[in-house]
Amino acid sequence: MELFIRYLRPYRRLLLAGMIIKLFGTLAELSIPYILEHIIDRIVPAGRIFPVLLWGFLMIFMAFVTAVLNITANRRAVDVSSRAIYDLRGDFFRKTMHLSGTRFDAFGLPSLQSRMTTDSYNVQNFMARMQTMGVRTPIMLIGGILVTMIMDPSLSLILIVLVPLLIAIVILVSLKGVPLFDKVQRHLDDLIRIMRENISGIRVVKALSREDHERDRFNAENDALTQSDILANTIMAIPGPSMQLFLNGGLSFVVYFGALRVNSGQTRPGVILAFLTYFNLIMMSVMGLNRIFVMFSKAKASADRMQSVLSDLPDQPIVPDDGTSDDTGALIEFRNVDFNYFVGTKSENALTGISFRVKEGDSLGILGPTGSGKSTILHLLMRFYDCTSGKVLVDGRDVRSYDKDELRRMFGVVFQNDIIFADTISENISFGRDVDKAGISFAAEAAMAKDFIEEYPDSYLHKAQVKGVNFSGGQKQRILIARALAAKPRILILDDASSALDYRTDAALRRNLRNHYADTTMLIVAQRISSIKDMSNIIVLDNGRIIASGTHEELLAASPYYRQVYESQMGSV
Ligand code: ADP
Repeated sequence: MELFIRYLRPYRRLLLAGMIIKLFGTLAELSIPYILEHIIDRIVPAGRIFPVLLWGFLMIFMAFVTAVLNITANRRAVDVSSRAIYDLRGDFFRKTMHLSGTRFDAFGLPSLQSRMTTDSYNVQNFMARMQTMGVRTPIMLIGGILVTMIMDPSLSLILIVLVPLLIAIVILVSLKGVPLFDKVQRHLDDLIRIMRENISGIRVVKALSREDHERDRFNAENDALTQSDILANTIMAIPGPSMQLFLNGGLSFVVYFGALRVNSGQTRPGVILAFLTYFNLIMMSVMGLNRIFVMFSKAKASADRMQSVLSDLPDQPIVPDDGTSDDTGALIEFRNVDFNYFVGTKSENALTGISFRVKEGDSLGILGPTGSGKSTILHLLMRFYDCTSGKVLVDGRDVRSYDKDELRRMFGVVFQNDIIFADTISENISFGRDVDKAGISFAAEAAMAKDFIEEYPDSYLHKAQVKGVNFSGGQKQRILIARALAAKPRILILDDASSALDYRTDAALRRNLRNHYADTTMLIVAQRISSIKDMSNIIVLDNGRIIASGTHEELLAASPYYRQVYESQMGSV
């Protein structure tokens, strides 16, 4: 609720104006059956044509006013809710951009996506409807009952008995149905997650003939979603038809008793006609109440889910350096670092006892089997995650003591599976930073991308499609490397960033890095020894631990694992 208030508050004037318009629209609508009663019972019997025309015109005029006011109010409601949701989505997006790696993992990408889309839609829908139905329903209900009581108190007894009964049904059913919608949304999250995994991993699913297994996994989750959806909607569907039943029953009562009362002269026929219309309007309002509850329950679950992200506390505060990190003169230093992705649960460390130093201008190669913790080292260095124990230092300072922007500005990075955006090559390289044309083409040349880019007729203005599918793997990697180089970073990080390049291009890339970026400190993760053999130092990881380190020659002499990898790769060249 607090979320609705917070985001509607800036538009409270518009909101209030819209609600007042709706109020008048509803009052105008309420007046129509009353005018009809007046015409039938008092004007027509008098037998004069002019008053009939006059009152008839008034009725048409009120119908017109009702339509205009209601349309205006509905448009305003959409306007206000769109603006509020625009703000909400903006805040939500900014918040997700600043979530730490740990919190991002905890929410999960699919869940964040559905919060941003489905949930924000539910919230918007409710905000819009609340401004219209939220005004119309109570006014119709109370106003309708009051008018009918004035017209014929005895007949209105039917309403006074029925309406509270129906409201009670609506409330009881809603109390039961509301929590179910939360469950539906959780199942939907899981389903989207499975779909995402399969679509992004479609090749490996096909290659390993895992289609049947994946289909079963999908079906199981799809069943769970369908079951909970059916249950939630079945419960919430009870009030609608039961109200139809009460409505028709009530109408029959009104007609029957009304006819008796007209015959005995206790009431007039116009009253019965007006009564039937009010009865209809009131019952519709109670049904509207039911819809408001359904929408509210969905919107509340959705708002809670968005709020839980928005109010997620920063788990990576800036911690002042405790001054015990005696400066060793290294630009980058890991000091006995342990790290576990799973906060608070007992599981194996992704890194254990990692220590190394890299001096400014030096380069570090990182080698090791998949899952050995290579990328994790880079994540800790950039403080996507905080280490569990030990220290990560940059420039002799604990990374936790840096403002995140200040820290990350030092880096140019290419991570595995980095994304090319659907924009021009030039924009993909400059990436919103202050890089001029010369800077872009210098970076592209160093990244060995210049030649293929300049073969396009529109050169740097050539457009990438979504995820860069119109480029080959090697072309994408070269554009990404150019992006990392373009801002002339102090530290360059390449995480398996040249794996798709042929050996010659890879060698030329390394030569360019050596010649043009000699002052840049580099951390390079690679599968190929040829990519890292010229580095000033190399660490070999296995199972989260450093099992060997040294220069290429030292490792060839000292590390059987390194020698074995080297020999196997030499054999394949
Ligand atoms: P490498 O880069 O050497 O392939 P990683 O550093 O990516 O290895 O992963 C090291 C270990 O941490 C692996 O066991 C991997 O499954 C695990 N891991 C990586 N990222 C996450 C994450 N976000 N959440 C949980 N575990 C992770």
